[in-house]
Amino acid sequence: MLSDHIIITGGRALARSFAKINLTLDVLNKREDGYHNVEMIMQTVSLFDLVLVDKTHSGISVTTNLRFLPSNEKNLAYAAAREFFNATGMNGGCKIMIHKNIPVAAGLAGGSGNAAAVLAALNMLYNAGLSEQQLCELGLKLGADVPYCILGGTYLAEGIGEKLSPLPPMPNCSILLVKPPINISTAAIYEKIDSEDITVRPDTDAMGRALVSGDPSAVAAQLSNVMSTVTESMHPIVRGIKEKMIKNGAIGAEMSGSGPTVFGIFPDYATAKRSHDSFVYQFKDVFITAPAY
Ligand code: ATP
Repeated sequence: MLSDHIIITGGRALARSFAKINLTLDVLNKREDGYHNVEMIMQTVSLFDLVLVDKTHSGISVTTNLRFLPSNEKNLAYAAAREFFNATGMNGGCKIMIHKNIPVAAGLAGGSGNAAAVLAALNMLYNAGLSEQQLCELGLKLGADVPYCILGGTYLAEGIGEKLSPLPPMPNCSILLVKPPINISTAAIYEKIDSEDITVRPDTDAMGRALVSGDPSAVAAQLSNVMSTVTESMHPIVRGIKEKMIKNGAIGAEMSGSGPTVFGIFPDYATAKRSHDSFVYQFKDVFITAPAY
């Protein structure tokens, strides 16, 4: 639960805002409202941003350590604060400072996590008494991944990502994240999925059973992302990273979300570290993580 990762001291909240990976991701169909129905198994990993929220008398401000990120309502953290004050009618404001460690536009839901952290932090700072369910409803207005980020852990997400059912936690292992420096157009991927006959799809039920078994190799064997098939044809580097991870001893590797981050599951830390060391010469964004929550 996100609130377990928030410390309150006086009028200040310090939150850890975690990244997620998709153990499975399937796109079922396009809805009339333009969104897609998905079926995906999400897992929190131990890479996190720090989100500091100070209570103020009025107004909302956001600063981050990354100059290129917006500090106005285009920042999901700002939008979350505005949503909180609008929904609760509370008088007051907040000053938000974010230290980003999670790479941006990476398929790791970094921005959604920040929004979730701000909602949960303000709920605590202002004693607003919103239930987890109410926070998720507010979060959904900001993005389909925000409700999941409010809960955190291991979940099956359906609908546009907002229908969440808990699953057994992912067994402990080392998870290597590598983000190549490319920009993925999520819209272009959805377009291809809609127009082409996709044959390789995840077996979501089998992943559910693998989680119940508690065996990391069973989980690794079921990793699957319908978007990666499309992405790899446009950006072969994604496939290249997967193959290199497997050569380095990963028991499974897949792309997260709409990419471009690739994650590999390693049976032990030492093997993950050797693989990490072989990637850091090539890429800036390389992290050894583990299942979190
Ligand atoms: P998802 O996995 O949910 O698709 P993502 O990991 O691919 O998300 P984010 O890191 O959340 O992508 O960033 C997507 C866009 O959101 C970026 O273009 C960025 O400018 C914008 N953005 C707004 N607020 C934030 C924030 N607090 N942190 C990161 N990005 C943000």
